Amino acid sequence: MAKVAFIGLGNMGGPMAVNLLEAGHEVTVFDLVSDLMQQLTDQGANAADSALAAADGAEFVITMLPAGRHVEMVYLGDSGLLACLESSPLIIDCSTIDAQTAKKVASAASEQGLDMIDAPVSGGVAAAKAGTLSFMCGGAEKVFNRAKPVLAGMGKNLFHAGSSGAGQTAKICNNMLLSVLMTGTAEALQLGVDNGLDPGVLSDIMLASSGRNWALEVYNPYPGVMDAAPSSHQYQPGFMVDLMVKDLGLALSAALESSSSVPMGSAARNLYMAHKKKGHGKLDFSSILQALK
Ligand code: NAD
Repeated sequence: MAKVAFIGLGNMGGPMAVNLLEAGHEVTVFDLVSDLMQQLTDQGANAADSALAAADGAEFVITMLPAGRHVEMVYLGDSGLLACLESSPLIIDCSTIDAQTAKKVASAASEQGLDMIDAPVSGGVAAAKAGTLSFMCGGAEKVFNRAKPVLAGMGKNLFHAGSSGAGQTAKICNNMLLSVLMTGTAEALQLGVDNGLDPGVLSDIMLASSGRNWALEVYNPYPGVMDAAPSSHQYQPGFMVDLMVKDLGLALSAALESSSSVPMGSAARNLYMAHKKKGHGKLDFSSILQALK
């Protein structure tokens, strides 16, 4: 079993670190929020008082941070991990960030003689807790293969998408599709309810019909249809609207760079941005249904 440093213990990172502990790894954790550290140390993790203290001496460093600027802050600069580490861990960044930043940090790591992969995840908090995440990884294949035993403690589908940054590109394509599926599912359910249908009955019908999709299967946006879904818990995240807005921004920036046409992703981004601006950024992204009422 390996010595793993885990930095960023939020909605996703916390349960991922717990699964590494349960898989038998020695895990040292750091987060800016001390309550989150406490939850992990209660379950057997070692606490560190900085990212560097967590990472030094580890065989693997995993980060699960909100956005690119947090990843740059942790790794780059005079006081960043890459400049200060005295050991040579394999670095795995699981945050969802833009592919350019992922490439920039991996290239800075390489200059320091460190191997790094980008390894964003899909599946949400439920999959993070169950250890069934999908990892989409970018970097050299031999580095990906070395990371696999640790990733397998947190997920069940491990994909090598290509070179550095490719994991992030796969992730934003997936999340753009997810935003379209969620807004489409929400508007179909609300249309049915507005026309006298029961949302549970309509969900069952669409699940057995051609409208079947992930949102209907495991993340129904209509309150009361699915007990475990955020919609049945006042839309507590889950996956925050703020993070979906960030991911759609990344998708649209990538589309601009590649001159790709993304009309559905653009429409979803406008809906989510309007929802955020009304003060709903901290709610789960399935709360988009409330904007359609
Ligand atoms: P979160 O905001 O709940 O957690 C992020 C954590 O990082 C926080 O606890 C914060 O205190 C910590 N942090 C920030 N800067 C730090 C620093 N410099 N040092 C140490 N800790 C720091 O976010 P989340 O929902 O866990 O998402 C994390 C990443 O995973 C995001 O990039 C998100 O887009 C992605 N993601 C989220 C989900 C989901 O369902 N929530 C699903 C897939 C991917």
